Amino acid sequence: MKNELISIVLPVFNEEAGIQATIDTLLNYIEQQEEKYELIFVDDGSKDKSVEIIKRALAQNDHIKLVEFSRNFGHQLAITAGLEYTKGDAVVVMDADLQDPPEVIPQMIKKWREGYQIVYGKRMQRDGETIFKKFTAKMFYRTFQKLATINMPLDTGDFRLMGRRAVQQLLKLHEKDPFVRGQVTWIGFKQTSVLYHRQERIAGETKYPLSKMIKLAVDGITSFSMKPLHFVNLFSIVPLASGVFSLGYLIATSNYSFASIGITVLLFTLGLLMLSIGILGSYLGRVLDQVNNRPRYIVSKTEGFEERNKGIHH
Ligand code: UDP
Ligand code: MG
Repeated sequence: MKNELISIVLPVFNEEAGIQATIDTLLNYIEQQEEKYELIFVDDGSKDKSVEIIKRALAQNDHIKLVEFSRNFGHQLAITAGLEYTKGDAVVVMDADLQDPPEVIPQMIKKWREGYQIVYGKRMQRDGETIFKKFTAKMFYRTFQKLATINMPLDTGDFRLMGRRAVQQLLKLHEKDPFVRGQVTWIGFKQTSVLYHRQERIAGETKYPLSKMIKLAVDGITSFSMKPLHFVNLFSIVPLASGVFSLGYLIATSNYSFASIGITVLLFTLGLLMLSIGILGSYLGRVLDQVNNRPRYIVSKTEGFEERNKGIHH
């Protein structure tokens, strides 16, 4: 329908190498659509020329809007912030590196019109990503499904369409370190997927080094599962049982070469103990973050949201 507005949210972190191509591709795409579009770029503290390039495009085209963070707050918060600025009847979130092809959006819109509030993109193939990344992602989604209280679909990232009602509910969640794809599952509504072929990055390197991947995985698990905490309880069985066993052995054999078994048991239980403390720490850190009650992110500037009247644009 012609009057509907679709917002596209694009988190950006040091994407100078490919951002112009992304902008051109998207402008070209929206020109061919009958719906109206707004493109909301959220700059997550880029240190390169990304902002400059977006601003240049923004000056020439009033579909483009920019939200600037005061520093790097991370991909998930950039998405969250972007959502707050959307006005669309439906909102699409996608990478700023053209890994998520805009041609999939019309299929998502079609599903949305059929009554789905959430249409996620399910990756059936991923190009240009390392075997390590694909393997760890696969493992993560499967482990997550076993641990979590929500039934998050496998192999979906943050490329998805959400209806306005879903976005409104999502924005009511105020987690400090959000795992957006989990939150989206959690809010419910009618959800479905469209399959797509994830492309290779248009330019530049991934902005998700191993450290950020681990943080994302820990945020995901600690925000949607208490099971690791129960494991900590279970772990105590090991030192208890081995203690009883060692004592029995000692009494039964009166054998004092017991030291080697003792050390093995000790090292093993020490390992479990440290793991347990680590698990507790991950949850505690999350609680602390929430209790600190700092703003989740700081927007230093926005551009392009004012009414613009520059004559005829497509
Ligand atoms: N990104 C971001 N902040 C970050 C890391 C990444 O806003 O701290 C953006 C990045 O520019 C991209 C999207 O989030 O548009 C996904 O990141 P990336 O493409 O590097 O991840 P990958 O697709 O390799 O998993
Ligand atoms: Mg990407």
